[in-house]
Amino acid sequence: MVRYVYDFAEGGREMAGLLGGKGANLAEMTRMGLPVPPGFVISTEACRAYLATGAEPEGLAAEVARHLAAVEESAGRTLGRPDDPLLLSVRSGARFSMPGMMETILNVGLTDGSVHGLARVSGSERFAWDSYRRLLQMFGATVMGVPASRFEEALGALKERRGARDDLGLDAEDLAGLAGVFKDLIRRETGEEFPQDPAEQLRRAVLAVFESWNGERARLYRRREHIPDDLGTAVTVQRMVFGNLGADSGSGVAFTRDPATGRPGVYGDYLPDAQGEDVVSGIRNAVPLADLERLDATSYGRLLEIMETLERHYRDLCDIEFTVERGELWMLQTRVGKRTAEAAFAIADALVREGLIDRREALARVGGEGLARLMFPRFDADRTGEPLAHGVPASPGAAVGAAVFDSAEAARRAAAGERVVLVRQETNPDDLPGMVAAQAVLTSRGGKTSHAAVVARGMGKVCVCGAEELVVDTAARRFTAPDGTVVEEGRVVSVDGSSGAVYLGAAPLVPSEVMRRLEGGVDGAAEAAEEGGLVAAVTRALEQADSVRRLEVRANADTPEDAARARRFGAQGIGLCRTEHMFLGERRQLVERMILACTPGDREQALDALLPLQTDDFAGILEAMDGLPVTIRLLDPPLHEFLPDRVELSVRVATAEARGERPEQRDLELLAAVDRMHEENPMMGLRGVRLGLAVPGLVAMQVRAVASAVVARVRAGGDPRAEIMVPLVGDVEELRLVKAEVERVLAEVGEESGVTVDCPVGTMIELPRAALTAGPIAEEAAFFSFGTNDLTQTTWGFSRDDVEAEFFPGYIDRGVFAASPFETLDEEGVGRLVRIAVEEGRRARPDLQIGVCGEHGGDPASVHFFHAAGLDYVSCSPFRVPVARLEAGRAAL
Ligand code: ADP
Ligand code: MG
Ligand code: MG
Repeated sequence: MVRYVYDFAEGGREMAGLLGGKGANLAEMTRMGLPVPPGFVISTEACRAYLATGAEPEGLAAEVARHLAAVEESAGRTLGRPDDPLLLSVRSGARFSMPGMMETILNVGLTDGSVHGLARVSGSERFAWDSYRRLLQMFGATVMGVPASRFEEALGALKERRGARDDLGLDAEDLAGLAGVFKDLIRRETGEEFPQDPAEQLRRAVLAVFESWNGERARLYRRREHIPDDLGTAVTVQRMVFGNLGADSGSGVAFTRDPATGRPGVYGDYLPDAQGEDVVSGIRNAVPLADLERLDATSYGRLLEIMETLERHYRDLCDIEFTVERGELWMLQTRVGKRTAEAAFAIADALVREGLIDRREALARVGGEGLARLMFPRFDADRTGEPLAHGVPASPGAAVGAAVFDSAEAARRAAAGERVVLVRQETNPDDLPGMVAAQAVLTSRGGKTSHAAVVARGMGKVCVCGAEELVVDTAARRFTAPDGTVVEEGRVVSVDGSSGAVYLGAAPLVPSEVMRRLEGGVDGAAEAAEEGGLVAAVTRALEQADSVRRLEVRANADTPEDAARARRFGAQGIGLCRTEHMFLGERRQLVERMILACTPGDREQALDALLPLQTDDFAGILEAMDGLPVTIRLLDPPLHEFLPDRVELSVRVATAEARGERPEQRDLELLAAVDRMHEENPMMGLRGVRLGLAVPGLVAMQVRAVASAVVARVRAGGDPRAEIMVPLVGDVEELRLVKAEVERVLAEVGEESGVTVDCPVGTMIELPRAALTAGPIAEEAAFFSFGTNDLTQTTWGFSRDDVEAEFFPGYIDRGVFAASPFETLDEEGVGRLVRIAVEEGRRARPDLQIGVCGEHGGDPASVHFFHAAGLDYVSCSPFRVPVARLEAGRAAL
């Protein structure tokens, strides 16, 4: 026989799934001997049964009656007894805290008759009528469906008539009248009387709490917080205690430490002569909790004692609801409290020092996303003023700069030492130099995974995207805010990538201490960290993570500067050094020449001109990463990305022709090349290894550059560890062909220089076919690196640029994805390919090195997956390296 109801004395905090967090913790406090009003919990199982069938589960009523009888016996009174009523609260509470999202009904059991009994035994008419009008209000709204605003309007109107500043200005007679008004309201709105049978009140209140699981607010909240929809809520039924019994009573909330900073101390609010949510609803001004000492020293002392007991028991920050009834303190709720990232690190560290938890536990309680937030400078929230607009907070942090409207202007001003914010409708790869130069990127279109957002995050740059209220006019070089403010180029704006807000002018900044220390180098940070500070807490968490993690952490870096920074952040090598950026800028000309070459001789010349430049690029990076592996990827994107825009060119040629002039010869040649190379779907076109096989000399030039850089570093006394990575392989034969060429060039350079150049050759796994034929591929590859960005695109068959802004938000809303598969690895699909490739690759070559270099390498949930899948390392942008170190450690706990 199923059982649905549990007394507080029968439960404990380990039963949160069944009793909900609130019920389980009330049971726990009861077990600890703390003063909790007696009660029982109707399990989430009962709720699920009710929601599935729409009918009260069989046997529930009898069980409730039995447990109610026990509460009545301990109280020496029965529910709603006319001369001395026992009253109940009927409270919602799911496994995961959903604060204020569901319903709770207080004072259940009061009726037209028992309100007089309550007045007599309490000696307060006012209290009795206040309690009754509250019941009518909560029951009327929650159970009977009268809009809550109707009650509030009636209450407001009464206060106005009485000239009362707040509810304390209403006397017993006013409140009795109000109860009458509320009953009329219920009758008018529902055609039904407020039920005068206490048992019926209880029954209907319980069902209404069940129903509140599917309320609109609750559903929205669950979606945002990724809480499953099928858990259901428990219902806690508990004897009422009264904070609205006069000045010696009251209701309050408290934290055992400051949830914003983690500092110890007394944090909370208290409201005398109040019930339930009054204290947080702002109907009257609450006083700081410390003032309770003056009002009621005994209750205050007892409360501090209990808070300490709770914190030692839960070994964590707790938040608390309590009520004082005529000098007697009652605990109504506790839970491990939510906190900021800063507080999470500080509290975990403090608890270790207090001997309550060990370092492993402390590591389990902090997270990579929190660490990332601590690495960015931020605005001083107290001093920012009203924002101009809001967008999607895509890359956290705070930035201030002059608004500029194109990449060139951004680069120009930045070179002159000015701080700029690049404002675009949306960005594309051509905006890259401007993004690099800018403090922040602000766009009016696109979501969290738009180009602007992805690139900005990769660079650790602040980004607010999709600020749709802004009208961005790039041609006129200005944008307009909804309040009519026009921001011309050069005007200073502030962009808060943590909240999505955009401000006019320079909002005041607070630098991040954590970042300063991390940038100072990993060892330096440990030394410099002061005992007890946030920086020390972060440093120790990272040390603990490093000592337990199995995954290595490398960085994706294309320049010596990035490589050096990554190393300071603790990177153990470079997992992805892209070479395409090295083909941009002034070198574009050379690349154009190579592409346009008509004869092998022309092409060779162009390649020869590129060679020394590439060699220098690699030498700088190898120097910055001396002694650590540097995985260099051969050119990956389609070549035409290096040519001018097709539309622009055609327009230029057509304009010249229309004027009767002869178009520039070079433009004609370029246009012909662009036309020839145009692809309907470049992502699936001539790129990656295909390019290397199709353009003679390209692979050889790149490999020669790597090998020459290695030789130069060896001669300089360095320890270069270059690895060569072939992108977009789908079949082992592609790899075999390229590898033969690579080895030929390595041998050549070795012979010419007299220095043996030994670079392992490996491949990216970024096509489903590569994952599915990983065995044979591994026979030719020294290492695998999962390119999970492309692997996600090719597995799902959608291109990131085309889908993210378009339909991802809808997909997330409708539950197709919990999160974008470009942010967090899709374990079911893409992850399955990863597992297959790891297993079959290792079977073919047991010493195969396996890593990942997609953006997922810095995503906490994905890092845990890669750990479980048995990878050797993750590689991510330099700024995510500390995040990945931390999460790799947490994954190993
Ligand atoms: P929420 O989950 O929204 O916090 P609660 O169930 O905690 O809702 O209840 C709402 C308010 O009612 C809280 O302030 C709580 O302290 C108060 N309350 C709940 N049960 C009782 C009770 N038995 N006696 C007095 N106040 C209560
Ligand atoms: Mg509560
Ligand atoms: Mg790729």
